[in-house]
Amino acid sequence: MLDKTDSNPTDFNAFPNAEGHFDRFGGRFVAETLIGPLQELAAAYDKARVDPAFIAAFDKDLKHYVGRPSPIYFAERLTRHVGGARILLKREDLNHTGAHKINNTIGQALLAARMGKPRIIAETGAGQHGVASATVAARLGLECVVYMGATDIERQKINVYRMKLLGAKVVPVTSGSKTLKDALNEAMRDWVTNISTTHYLLGSALGSHPYPMMVRDFHRVIGVEARRQILEAEQRLPDAIYACVGGGSNAIGIFHPFLEDSSVRLIGIEAGGQGKELGEHAARFSGGSPGVLHGAFSYLLQNDDGQISLTHSVSAGLDYAMIGPEHAWLHDQRRAEYTSAGDEEALEAARRLARTEGIIPALESSHAVAEAIRRAPQAKGEIHIISLSGRGDKDIDIYRENFVELDAQGPDYAH
Ligand SMILES: *Cc1c(COP(=O)(O)O)cnc(C)c1O
Repeated sequence: MLDKTDSNPTDFNAFPNAEGHFDRFGGRFVAETLIGPLQELAAAYDKARVDPAFIAAFDKDLKHYVGRPSPIYFAERLTRHVGGARILLKREDLNHTGAHKINNTIGQALLAARMGKPRIIAETGAGQHGVASATVAARLGLECVVYMGATDIERQKINVYRMKLLGAKVVPVTSGSKTLKDALNEAMRDWVTNISTTHYLLGSALGSHPYPMMVRDFHRVIGVEARRQILEAEQRLPDAIYACVGGGSNAIGIFHPFLEDSSVRLIGIEAGGQGKELGEHAARFSGGSPGVLHGAFSYLLQNDDGQISLTHSVSAGLDYAMIGPEHAWLHDQRRAEYTSAGDEEALEAARRLARTEGIIPALESSHAVAEAIRRAPQAKGEIHIISLSGRGDKDIDIYRENFVELDAQGPDYAH
């Protein structure tokens, strides 16, 4: 059953190559000034990843600080409601700080400390990666500076406050559209200027080599645990795994340990937003094409002149023009398939999960739940796992805006 050679001859663990290429994707498309810092980081990570002391420190923090292993949970009432495949949830929402992001920030902060860098910088859009970075910086006594678009600061006051409470400095970025991509540019500029003291803590499986590989490795624990847990609980591998894909870190984390199990379907869900026109969604595979952005070659949303297009999603974590290069490669290899769920479907899936299981998911994760709800009815006898990447506390204001009827007091207030 697990014969690796029968239908999939690729050795997935051999990628990326030494230059960070997943076939034609990935790489290092950056200015000369950034090549040195990236090489230094790659060399440090190459040593750390095989150093038992580093691995032990990482594992220890995952266990005692993050609270791993996260459970795999049989969603019995959701399964019954949907009818069909048995649905299990990999509970990244139960991690410290409420999402998978902390796996990566812990790994990179430990690496920064090991490299003797007392200062970390990060970019953030909605603030989730900023909070996860500020958290681990506090934990290790590192200085933390978070670049954030001025528009995003206005929209995400609570997360800005959280970062400050944790001791981080939040720098408003007023260039361009004053959002995530401008914050990213500003963080890059800081890194080049302060390279001797500073580690740039990138938040997803994006950017130049070694980031996509390193971020993947720090999140592989999700899939390694899930594989062990499902074999223990069901005595067999799952038939399908769903994960939402922004930059792609929770998805590659849960997919990677299953890549050579050719019977396991891997399904990434992008943000379908409000419609199919450029600017209305963040579905890079159905609506985009390969190109270069932020130091790597991958699928991205661009117009005919190669201008990066605007994106939309109800969930900030999926609202990004580029997908990580390993996903681009898995897509073209047809080892993983990618689809999208729209804003409405994600919101409805969140309400369904809340009411059948007592779990309010993050809006990002709700996209994966929506796809499972769509497919499970046709898959009786199968086992499906959803990566529940985060919890919904951060999204309560958006749920309130979209389910206004719940705020009304009256005889039907419970609907
Ligand atoms: C940030 C975020 C995502 C999207 O990031 P990936 O790198 O694609 O995983 C998904 N879910 C939650 C809960 C997030 O906070």
